[in-house]
Amino acid sequence: MSPASNMPVLEVSNLKKHFPVRKGLLRRTVGHVYAVDGVSFTIGVGETLGLVGESGCGKTTAGRAVLRLIEPTSGSVKVGGTEITGLSKSDMRPYRAEMQIIFQDPFSSLNPRMTAGEIVGEPLLVHGVARRKEREEQVSALFARVGLRPAQMSNYPHQFSGGQRQRIGIARALALGPKLIVGDEPVSALDVSIQAQVINLLQDLQRERQLSYLFISHNLAVVEHISHQIAVMYLGRIVEYADTRSIFTRAQHPYTEALLSAVPVPDPAIRRQKRVLQGDVPSPVRPPPGCHFHTRCPYAVERCKVETPPLREIAPGHQVSCHLR
Ligand code: SF4
Repeated sequence: MSPASNMPVLEVSNLKKHFPVRKGLLRRTVGHVYAVDGVSFTIGVGETLGLVGESGCGKTTAGRAVLRLIEPTSGSVKVGGTEITGLSKSDMRPYRAEMQIIFQDPFSSLNPRMTAGEIVGEPLLVHGVARRKEREEQVSALFARVGLRPAQMSNYPHQFSGGQRQRIGIARALALGPKLIVGDEPVSALDVSIQAQVINLLQDLQRERQLSYLFISHNLAVVEHISHQIAVMYLGRIVEYADTRSIFTRAQHPYTEALLSAVPVPDPAIRRQKRVLQGDVPSPVRPPPGCHFHTRCPYAVERCKVETPPLREIAPGHQVSCHLR
C-alpha cells in the first residue's frame, strides 16, 4: 500500500461549535450553546467510526461541522490531509463531492416535487459531471446497486416505502463517488428488519468502494455491527473512544456503561446489569463544571465537580475521560 493510501480520510482535531444565545431587542449575545466542545477523531480508508450519545450531546452538530454544512467555531478538519476549514466556496467544491450525508428522515430530506431519478441525478447535474444520457445511465446503475428497480426512477418519493426512500438517499449520496459519507441516524426512523437491510447495504458498499463512514446514532446496538471504532459523546465532548470490541467488552466510562446496559445481549447466559441514567442531559448552555457527567454519575466524587478529566489513553487505542479510570 502506498503511503498516501495510509493517510486517514478524515482527521478532526479539537473541533468546536459554539452557538451564540441572543436576547432582547438588540439581540445581544448573552451566552453560548457549547454544542461541540473540543472533539478529535480520525477515520481511515474503508473504516467506520460510530459517534454515539443521547439526543442533545452534539453528535449531529459535529457531523455537520465536519462537512461544513455549519461553520465550526474553531478546530481543524483535514480531508485526505488537506485542511478544509477556511476554504472558500469554490475551493471547497471538490471536497463537497468527496463528502456526502445521509439524513435520518428520508422523507423530509427528499424533495417531494422531484422524481426519484431527478433526486439521485441532481448532484451530477449540479457538479456538471455528466450529460443527460450518461446521467440517466449512471442513475439507473445507482438504482440497481441500492436495490431499487430502474423503472422506479420516474416515481415520486411518496410512492416509496421508508426503507426504499433511504435507499434513494444512499444512491444520491453515492452519485459523485464520495470517499466519506456521514450518516446522521440513517436507520433510526426505520423498522428493525429494514434497519438490518440498510446496514447490510452500507457495509457491502463500503467493501466495494472502500468508503469511510461517520455513523451517528443514539443507539450503541445499531452502530455495533457497522463500526470499527466508536466514540461516545456527552455534552459536546468525547468521553470514551476505542475500537468496537473494546467498547463492548471493556467499556471504562460510566456513561458508556449506562448506554451499554440498554443494549440487548443475544446470549441468554450473559446478563448485563441494567443502569438507568437519572435525569436528562443537562443544558449545553450551562454545562456542569468539572466532569460534565457528574450530575448523573453514580461514582462521582468531589473532585469530579471541579476538575475536568482529560481524555487519556488507558490502553493502546483506548481513550477515556474519567478521574477514576
Ligand atoms: Fe463519574 Fe467522576 Fe468519572 Fe465523571 S470523572 S465519569 S463524574 S467518576
